[in-house]
Amino acid sequence: MCLATTLVGCGSGSSASSAATSSVAAVVSTSAAGSADVAAATTTPPLTITVAPAITAGTVTATTETTTTASAATTIPTTIPATAPPSTTAPFTDAATDFLGEEVIGYSVQGRPIVASHRGTAGGTVILVVGVIHGNENAGLAILDELRTRPLPPNIDLWLMDAMNPDGLANDVRGNGNQVDLNRNFPHDWTAVAQLGEWEYSGTGPASEPETQAFMAFADRIRPSLTLWYHQDLYRISPSTRSDGPLRERYAHITGLPLLTVSGGTYTGVAATWVRKTVPEAMSFIVELGPTLTSPEAMLHAAAVLDIATMARAIG
Ligand SMILES: [Zn+2]
Repeated sequence: MCLATTLVGCGSGSSASSAATSSVAAVVSTSAAGSADVAAATTTPPLTITVAPAITAGTVTATTETTTTASAATTIPTTIPATAPPSTTAPFTDAATDFLGEEVIGYSVQGRPIVASHRGTAGGTVILVVGVIHGNENAGLAILDELRTRPLPPNIDLWLMDAMNPDGLANDVRGNGNQVDLNRNFPHDWTAVAQLGEWEYSGTGPASEPETQAFMAFADRIRPSLTLWYHQDLYRISPSTRSDGPLRERYAHITGLPLLTVSGGTYTGVAATWVRKTVPEAMSFIVELGPTLTSPEAMLHAAAVLDIATMARAIG
């Protein structure tokens, strides 16, 4: 959530971009030109061109994942402790055949499309991953690139939203085109925070921003069982006693992130909280990455996402 003002780099943007440079460039090129690119975005396959070389070059352990009949154990890098196998023996789905489409769910203040891509098993457990809500915290994009191509466990209905805040991403700033912190703008427990020009500015009212409104309508429609949000750069996951507590613990265990409470900001109008409070049975939590994310780390995080997706499936 990037709320600790004392931590250098939190929200500064530039420190976060090095590991995800190639994927960021791809995303920006898709979004920066605005609505003119919408048609291209909807007809162009997901960003596999930029992803495939990274996977090939970046890992040995993931090479078995190209098979469509891989078991649960073979899709997780061998360095990860084994977890309970999925309760089904149905085959994993492959990115070459499980692509379900890509859609523009709305537009930003500056007219950029907010794009969500969809793959997996329609009607399965709905998992939503959001790469960027604070525009200058973009390391999560490399994880979404991984998730675009990785074989999926059976019965996972996966939505990938690179950027809920495409203006912030394009401009390398925290807020949207109105300088609003979108993670203080959601209507659950919204309060006026800060002033225009300040880092936590909550906007003029609950869901005042088009990006927030678009996300709310989208979440209401797809009803995600689990929503993950990437931030930087506090390097932690907050523990929880709620239903997603074990998923947080598992994710932290796989990736090495410590389970530590995020503090230092004003936690009202937060997107993850809105999802939990609004979508029935929804789980949603924030993953605070570090200042940078290497390619192997991105693969580890992608594996963690799919691992806890199977946990969410079991709960659902
Ligand atoms: Zn953040």
